[in-house]
Amino acid sequence: MATDYVWPLKKDEQGFATGSEENPAREDRTWPRELMKELDPLNATEARLSKEELASLRISDLPTVQGYAVRDILLKDVSVERMARHLLESGREESLFAVYFDGFDAYCHLFWPNYRDYAAIRKGGSAGPEAFARLDPEKLKIARVLDAHLARIDAFLGYLRDRMRPEDALVIVSDHGYGDNPERKPIERAYGQTIRPEHWHTLSGILLATGGPIRKGASGFEASVVDVTPTVLALLGLPAGRDMDGRPVEGILSEGFREKHPQEWIETYDATPRAGTITPGAYDEAMKKRLRALGYVDAPDEGSSSEGPGGVRH
Ligand SMILES: [Zn+2]
Repeated sequence: MATDYVWPLKKDEQGFATGSEENPAREDRTWPRELMKELDPLNATEARLSKEELASLRISDLPTVQGYAVRDILLKDVSVERMARHLLESGREESLFAVYFDGFDAYCHLFWPNYRDYAAIRKGGSAGPEAFARLDPEKLKIARVLDAHLARIDAFLGYLRDRMRPEDALVIVSDHGYGDNPERKPIERAYGQTIRPEHWHTLSGILLATGGPIRKGASGFEASVVDVTPTVLALLGLPAGRDMDGRPVEGILSEGFREKHPQEWIETYDATPRAGTITPGAYDEAMKKRLRALGYVDAPDEGSSSEGPGGVRH
């Protein structure tokens, strides 16, 4: 397990990685703890990269924005991708491998209008250079940072596909989409003017799957984020819990796979007491503050007013 804290940079008081100062070593970033030694050299911070490496990633074309370090978050994705490749090639025989990239979300919160305008031109397919030349060059530069990032993640997906055995499944999910959202009420707690509420997460995300256990050409099925865990369990040949909010998306499973692995259910996975302990960290408060600022949880001192953005959003 490599947590979000494999990224070495210090975080600001709202829990965002910022600047170039590295955290003093802490022990609980990975499990087992020794894994951190193996992963840390793969961290690609601005300070650790050469000018040429940094330029080839295009990430430094983004302006720095106080309080929301998108460059760092994109570099964290670059690092996480390197770590994922390293772990997959290290001979550990995992039956499930999951990796999360959060750069898209961070980028969109700050730079969505740049990418939207660029993507709208590109969408037609026939746009020549003169169409892009109408965009503000600075905006175009910002838009192309995300394209470069998408190309990197796309190459990683190609790498994963090349490694797949016939019995493997590759599942790609987003926890939400992103787009214009003119009706959304401003969240005043969210970073002043930094995060614009006129564009925000949308309910439509993506679910793509490929591999031996997946039905070819399946599309148009309904699915929600809460269905991801039961679906992944089904792909592992494990039962779903009746107390789970979601259901396996059986429509994506091939006939052959379903015959071999009929869907099974258990009451719950939560009955076994866990041996783990919570290690209090310096960023616990910062993370709570950040989640409150984004409107995911209510601030305890403000009460839970009925019109507030309270509650858990996902
Ligand atoms: Zn977001």
